[in-house]
Amino acid sequence: MQRTVLVLNSGSSSLKFSLVQPDTGVSVADGIIEEIGGEHSMARLEFGGLKIQRERSVVDHEAALRLAFDLFAETGGHLETLGLVAVGHRVVHGGRDFYRPTLIDDALVQRVSALSPLAPLHNPPALRGIEVARKLLPDLPHVAVFDTAFFHDLPAAAATYAIDAEVAEQWRVRRYGFHGTSHQYVSEQAAVFLGAPLESLNQIVLHLGNGASASAVAGGRPVDTSMGLTPMEGLVMGTRSGDIDPGIVFYLARTAGMAVEDIESMLNRRSGVAGLCGSNDFRELHRLAETGDESERAAARLAYDVYIHRLRKYIGAYLAVLGSTDVITFTAGVGENDAAVRRDALTGLAPLGVELDEHLNDSPAHGPRVISAEMSPITVLVIPTDEELAIARACVATIEASA
Ligand code: AMP
Repeated sequence: MQRTVLVLNSGSSSLKFSLVQPDTGVSVADGIIEEIGGEHSMARLEFGGLKIQRERSVVDHEAALRLAFDLFAETGGHLETLGLVAVGHRVVHGGRDFYRPTLIDDALVQRVSALSPLAPLHNPPALRGIEVARKLLPDLPHVAVFDTAFFHDLPAAAATYAIDAEVAEQWRVRRYGFHGTSHQYVSEQAAVFLGAPLESLNQIVLHLGNGASASAVAGGRPVDTSMGLTPMEGLVMGTRSGDIDPGIVFYLARTAGMAVEDIESMLNRRSGVAGLCGSNDFRELHRLAETGDESERAAARLAYDVYIHRLRKYIGAYLAVLGSTDVITFTAGVGENDAAVRRDALTGLAPLGVELDEHLNDSPAHGPRVISAEMSPITVLVIPTDEELAIARACVATIEASA
């Protein structure tokens, strides 16, 4: 029987769950429960070719996980027959302490709780997911996989903010980086796809999903990344601003009388392309830019231009940070699917060694693929990310190492 890992990604009002076979890379089941805590929570599950969707009232994360198991049974699945060997939990912030996947025990839960001020929107819901999964599946090992881990040894020059050093030390203010599981997985897969040793490649990885981040990876080690203390820094995202002048925060607090919480919420939830044009979905953004009314068209085009401008700035910066670059890889929802974004991010960069093949870029293919011209000094790839598989593999490696 194939080993299977249950991978959980627990958000404030959602629970994503997948059953993944780490040895074959097969995703057996995938599901999400959204609007937890509301009257009309929506649950979706895909398993064995079946797709089901249910609307229920789901009061909390424990009810959500129970519902996930019920849905699974409804489609004919039984966890007991699947060779479940572990539960992997995505935890966004590992602070300075956690840079490896770690077996979960009570002490770890306490230490991750202590990191919550660093990631108030993300770590508390992950801890809720851990608590209920340990309660419902007490006999399995549970492993925490941290989104910051890959960037733990960023060079000091990239990890340090130029602020008062004592304040930074006391309050652990540094650049941690996020989406690390994806950046690591994609940079490794790029090397596998090209048949080149990871150690020999200088890579730029562009993880463009609803959240978005860029990294520069030299020989498999990260040398810079666009997210910082929190996942708000860097690229323009679906609903997050990315880089802004920190002065904006003080100006809005003083002059507009906005509370810190309101500014934080605005920068996280009502900014990015959604803040500029009303939608965080690039399919809708393109539709508005083409067929919206005059003001919708103008807003969507501006949002797109701002997004592309920032992306190009980071690509240029990382070409300079790396000195010489072998590969640029696009991944995640936008990066894998939006040919226009890929084209506009790289147009005119031939003098820097990047030449797209428009035909390959426009192909509706899925899966890992080259989209640069044959003569392009820098190879441009699209590699689908698979954070669940990476987490499942990290889980079994952790269990094996501790056995
Ligand atoms: P992720 O966070 O990786 O799941 O990415 C989600 C985002 O990917 C969505 O909000 C969309 O903006 C984008 N996306 C998904 N599918 C497409 C597509 N076919 N074309 C353009 N953008 C897409």
